[in-house]
Amino acid sequence: MTQTWDIVIVGGGLAGYVAANYLMNTNLSILILEKGKSVGGRARTNKMNGQHFNLGPHALYKKGKARFILEDLGIHLNGKSPKLGGTLIENNVEYTAPFSPFELFTTRFLHSKERMEWIAVILKIMSADPEKLTNQTFQQWVHQMTKSNTIKSLPYTLGRLATYCHAPEKISARVAVSHLKYAMGGVLYLDDGWQTIIDQLHNKAIVSGVHVHSHTLVEQMERDPKKDQFKFTLSNGEETLGKYVICTTGPNELIHMLGEKASLPNRDFFAQITPVKGATLDVALTQLPIPKQLFAMGTTDPLYYSVHSTYARLSDHTKNAVLHVFKYHYPNEHVDGPSVKNELEQFLDRLQPGWQQYVISKRFIPDITVNQRLPQIGDELNLHRSKTEIPGLYIAGDWTSPHSILAEGAISSGKQAAEEIILNEERKNSANYNGRVPAI
Ligand SMILES: Cc1cc2nc3c(=O)[nH]c(=O)nc-3n(C[C@H](O)[C@H](O)[C@H](O)COP(=O)(O)OP(=O)(O)OC[C@H]3O[C@@H](n4cnc5c(N)ncnc54)[C@H](O)[C@@H]3O)c2cc1C
Repeated sequence: MTQTWDIVIVGGGLAGYVAANYLMNTNLSILILEKGKSVGGRARTNKMNGQHFNLGPHALYKKGKARFILEDLGIHLNGKSPKLGGTLIENNVEYTAPFSPFELFTTRFLHSKERMEWIAVILKIMSADPEKLTNQTFQQWVHQMTKSNTIKSLPYTLGRLATYCHAPEKISARVAVSHLKYAMGGVLYLDDGWQTIIDQLHNKAIVSGVHVHSHTLVEQMERDPKKDQFKFTLSNGEETLGKYVICTTGPNELIHMLGEKASLPNRDFFAQITPVKGATLDVALTQLPIPKQLFAMGTTDPLYYSVHSTYARLSDHTKNAVLHVFKYHYPNEHVDGPSVKNELEQFLDRLQPGWQQYVISKRFIPDITVNQRLPQIGDELNLHRSKTEIPGLYIAGDWTSPHSILAEGAISSGKQAAEEIILNEERKNSANYNGRVPAI
């Protein structure tokens, strides 16, 4: 017998699990289908030789919506905040980063007039209202604050850190500035990695009766308008049925699963969404050759380095160091894996000379999707709610939230999809009570 679920969630990452956690106390039956062998999506953590490797550098904004939503769901977030400071590298020269009051007045990166100008820019960022920045790119916004290229390079570098986007002339100022403000409010590096978020969400869901089928790819989903339900064709040859679906895959997978026949008015917008990508070198060492070198970013080269284990427990052995080196790719950039690997290893060599002799584990991923959507001006016209034009189909995930990206987007959209379904059920039930049945 083909089983029928009230809600089928496609994708067991942050968005899918947050949606399940908000829905699990309704009396609706819920199934999560995840194609991966294990759950977690891009928030998963792999344990390699006793070291916890997130999928590249992961930091949770302390003042973002995601943290409050997770805490609202009873998720414990243990970890510590790194200092916003370290090294800036411009044209191959190293400087102290002017990100804290003392460093701001001592760094050679800025001369005295520039220091005052940079303080003024920091104050403007902190007092900016992102909601008023709907029709500007991040580059336009930065240009109107300063004429100095040295000063401009600082919000661009911090903007990359906060959004992972390496195209200030393309991304919306609204998203960039709101995330920059979150980042300036500090971040958390999590003990044992982001898998701890997934594991807690998963365990709460299972205890409440949510079913999770991993290693199950949804190949196709088709709506039967007569029965008001979806039929899912799975990779194991089985079929399952659902009244609602929350799809948390990327936009291309969604289009593919629905097939050509489905009428999806936003199809063209979804199909031209550009992902935000990068390359990550995740490394565990028995020791750091230069213990004080904990954080660095390139201003001219889009490179990042941070030792996460100084603040979060990421190894079975306290003396080991777990760090991430990252390159932000330009949108649609052609990536030559071996040369990017070489670039990241050389960047690490400059910061931690001789690191190779202390390696416990390392992993290089040349071209990974960090966020499914490069946030651009006008995206909100196509992404204003989770509900789609196809009755019963809701979307969530880091690309579906008009004004948030990354975990902020994934987690807030998971919550929103759940709330829209709960509201729809309430309306349906009260209409049933009054003798009318609206379509879902
Ligand atoms: C290198 C890197 C660094 C990052 N750093 C940060 C950071 O510092 N701060 C931050 O906030 N965010 C960061 N992120 C982003 C964050 O990890 C993601 O935005 C978030 O995890 C996305 O969650 P999601 O549920 O939207 O998508 P996913 O985690 O991708 O979940 C979607 C799930 O759907 C599954 N799926 C897809 N198609 C199908 C199908 N047909 N059938 C069944 N299952 C399917 C996938 O396997 C996946 O598990 C980073 C990401 C990366 C890669």
